[in-house]
Amino acid sequence: MVNRRAKWVAALRTPVGAFAAALLVLVLALAVLAPILWHGKAFEIDTNAIGQGPSAEHWLGTDDLGRDIFFRVLVATRLSVLLAVLATVIGVVTGLVLGTLPSLLPRPAARLVTASVNIAVAFPGLLLVLFFSVIFGVGTHGAVLAVGFALAPAFARLAQTLSASVAGHDFVSAARISGVGRIRLLTRHILPNIGEPLVVNATIGAGSSLLAFSGLSFLGIGVQAPEYDWGRLLGEGLNGIYVNPAAALAPGVAVVLAGLAFNLVGETVAGVIGVRTGSRKLPPRPVTPAREEAVDDRDDAVLVVENLQVAFPRPAGWTVPVRGVSFTVRAGEAIGVVGESGSGKSLTGLAVSRLVEAPAVVTADRLDFAGKPVLTTPERELRGLLGTSLAMVFQDPMTSFNPTRRIGRQLAEVAEQHQGLPRAKAFARAVDRLRAVRIPAAERRARQYPHEFSGGMRQRAMIGMGLMGDPRLIIADEPTTALDVTVQRQLLRLLARTRTERNTAIILISHDIAVVSQTCERMLVMYAGRLVEDLPSAGTPRHPYTRALLAATLDLETDRDAPLAVIPGRPPEPDRVPTGCAFADRCPAVTDRCRLEDPVLERVKPGHRVACWHPHETSSAQPAKESVTAGGAE
Ligand code: SF4
Repeated sequence: MVNRRAKWVAALRTPVGAFAAALLVLVLALAVLAPILWHGKAFEIDTNAIGQGPSAEHWLGTDDLGRDIFFRVLVATRLSVLLAVLATVIGVVTGLVLGTLPSLLPRPAARLVTASVNIAVAFPGLLLVLFFSVIFGVGTHGAVLAVGFALAPAFARLAQTLSASVAGHDFVSAARISGVGRIRLLTRHILPNIGEPLVVNATIGAGSSLLAFSGLSFLGIGVQAPEYDWGRLLGEGLNGIYVNPAAALAPGVAVVLAGLAFNLVGETVAGVIGVRTGSRKLPPRPVTPAREEAVDDRDDAVLVVENLQVAFPRPAGWTVPVRGVSFTVRAGEAIGVVGESGSGKSLTGLAVSRLVEAPAVVTADRLDFAGKPVLTTPERELRGLLGTSLAMVFQDPMTSFNPTRRIGRQLAEVAEQHQGLPRAKAFARAVDRLRAVRIPAAERRARQYPHEFSGGMRQRAMIGMGLMGDPRLIIADEPTTALDVTVQRQLLRLLARTRTERNTAIILISHDIAVVSQTCERMLVMYAGRLVEDLPSAGTPRHPYTRALLAATLDLETDRDAPLAVIPGRPPEPDRVPTGCAFADRCPAVTDRCRLEDPVLERVKPGHRVACWHPHETSSAQPAKESVTAGGAE
């Protein structure tokens, strides 16, 4: 709450925020006070002052009945604003009904409504206003309905999109599973969560309807005499524009200023509550808000990740395969990220390297690499930083190298692009780096194509490519999975040596807990898109999932006659993560609490965090493997 208030104060202190607020207050004050204070002057007919230009007595001149235009413009504020707000309310309510109907109706009817809205959205707004004006007739009432219904399709589309994004959230699934009816689901769970963005867009929509209304009155099919709004005054002023231009200019300026007030206020509110307007899609709300303890943010931190989330839009809402992950990597540190397929570990690596493409949405409370915020640093600046300071090694380097270009040239390109080296020098550097990663006959090999390299050599060349700059972090995603054991060992040694020689941090992503324990001193265990345990490799795991992973690892001491240990069941799909602990269905220690509440990642001792309501007690009987490194294949 305090944070939200601080945001409001900060927004109002910006030039745009302060201007928008002042303008809106002025417009509203005039709408309330002007008819009370100046109604008489605005209607006072003076036959001695017909069609006069600006003077000390009549600042903006008079109309063809000698009435003061300045006071008429001020008094017209109330009707103009009132009608615009009324039309906006009609548009929002109709749009809300049309936008949420599909979630209540049977499928064929829902499709029909959606298709109708899509068709209506395709028509230009002004055309719809004129179309509805013909239907509802000339006059104030007809114009209000025409403008309101013309706004409805845009709000219907917005409500549909917002409802779909909220419908994908856990709490809606939980309510659905517990038997909550459709209408109750809509009124209790969906509508309250789409209110804020709808209000913001309605504020901006009020500016548009003000403009549309003035247009109708100007054309003579809106407000009728003796009533008048700014559009009508504009029409009357245009008749005598050569005698008194101010008579047309003043209502025009009033329309623009009031429209500006609504739009700027809408944009300011959107900035405060984090809603994007216009054609940009709304980001999903964090599924697991900052629930993990603060990350370890020291001076030597290379990477700081706080509440990282990756979400993909789906027709029925958002799928969130990475849900609020927080960790820190320090210079020279090697951390392993382990978990089964689909746990979100690779996506986490791609997200921190800004390699996740739209339409996926990456959000984080904080995502800093080498002290720079990855999500907000301009693309060009970030490209330079990532190109020289971050190296990625993928599982299949065959797909990472361009098959039509020689390896040396591909490495040299990095130095040409990011360090501005001339072609020959860049190639010499490429040969040097291939040598550094133990590629025999590096000069000759640099002139070969990727298909002429073995799998292990391609991986080493990939690391060599990362070394073309001065990498502060290497992210290796399953780098040894496709390699035989000997080559695997060589590659892990190469990574370890690179780390020692250059103080480079390493994130090793792998499903193989033994491989990780060989190379890393710390391990992050991921399950269903969340970090469930963060522990030293030499530590004793306390999360049932980590212990189960470890128990399923084969080593030389494994009893060959005993049945192979497996983790029963399968991880949940990213769009079907249950309420409570995601591991509950597979956990031997599950309790009722686990099925209701998602456990928070908490520190159990320095350097060891666990997300489990019932973490294993280290003093009690231990399973076959005491610690991660004991289970490793060292
Ligand atoms: S919270 Fe409960 S279900 Fe989840 S891992 Fe811990 S004991 Fe198992």
